[in-house]
Amino acid sequence: MGLADGIRKRGFRKWYERTLIRSHAYLVLTLLCAIGVMAAFEVHSRSAPWSDQLFDAAAIVLCGAVGVHALRRYLYLLTYAERIAHQAVCPNCKTYARFNVTAEDRVQQQLTVHCRHCAHEWSISH
Ligand SMILES: [Zn+2]
Repeated sequence: MGLADGIRKRGFRKWYERTLIRSHAYLVLTLLCAIGVMAAFEVHSRSAPWSDQLFDAAAIVLCGAVGVHALRRYLYLLTYAERIAHQAVCPNCKTYARFNVTAEDRVQQQLTVHCRHCAHEWSISH
């Protein structure tokens, strides 16, 4: 679901809240993967059978890869939500997050929004 559809369906505040919750879920996944990497290093032993060592190495690689991906998603979603939130203030009356999406330009990646308080229109880039 795109930004315009998300805001139209739920309103800006809910979209923002859900995006932050999603980003922080990725942060939790990052922390769990870090614990998984540390646990795999902890149980790793050179005297263990090669199959156990292989399993430990696979766990380290898998947890590391998923953790890096989750960290990237966390940072992306957090900065994306904040970038949109900084533009959610009406330039005319300074009302925060009370607008309707009137148009979407997918090429320019811009939304045209309409303030519900003073009817001013402005653009939000994403
Ligand atoms: Zn306004």
